Amino acid sequence: MSIITITAGHSNKDCGAINPKSKITEASVACEMRNMVAYYLKQAGISYRTDGMGSDNKPLKDAIKLISGSKAAVEFHCNASTNITACGVEALAQSKDRELCQRLCQVIANTMGIPLRGDRGFKPETAGQHSRLGYVRAGGIILELFFISNDQELATWNTKKWLIAKAVSKVLIEECK
Ligand SMILES: [Zn+2]
Repeated sequence: MSIITITAGHSNKDCGAINPKSKITEASVACEMRNMVAYYLKQAGISYRTDGMGSDNKPLKDAIKLISGSKAAVEFHCNASTNITACGVEALAQSKDRELCQRLCQVIANTMGIPLRGDRGFKPETAGQHSRLGYVRAGGIILELFFISNDQELATWNTKKWLIAKAVSKVLIEECK
């Protein structure tokens, strides 16, 4: 049976990037996304692993241990930039996951009305920050949903997050067929 791993970026102790106006954190967005996708996977009868429930968010070293044996493993993050107009969705992974990254990014771009970054959303593992790459090296996908530093994208997330999670879940469910 195929297992999907979904984990929230950062941890209980490291909240990641913060939107300056709303103070909403990357870790809180990542947990919400993980929980909503878990809901849809469960509803579809798909086996899945997570790095916690509710607001629990295990550190990267624990998330990495869940990857082995998964059909796909996705860790949710948000991008951030000092340029508040920086925008779009992208996924970092090994080239084996290029196509899945592109499908995941495409549904987010369509649902949120935001641009695709990189190669139709895909960025090779060498493009990322050093600290995140352990997950990719272990075979997982780092999905940078949108820019938390961009107030417009954060507002779109707040109004459309269930639709975004549903669309991403659909892609992951199709992976299991
Ligand atoms: Zn992050």
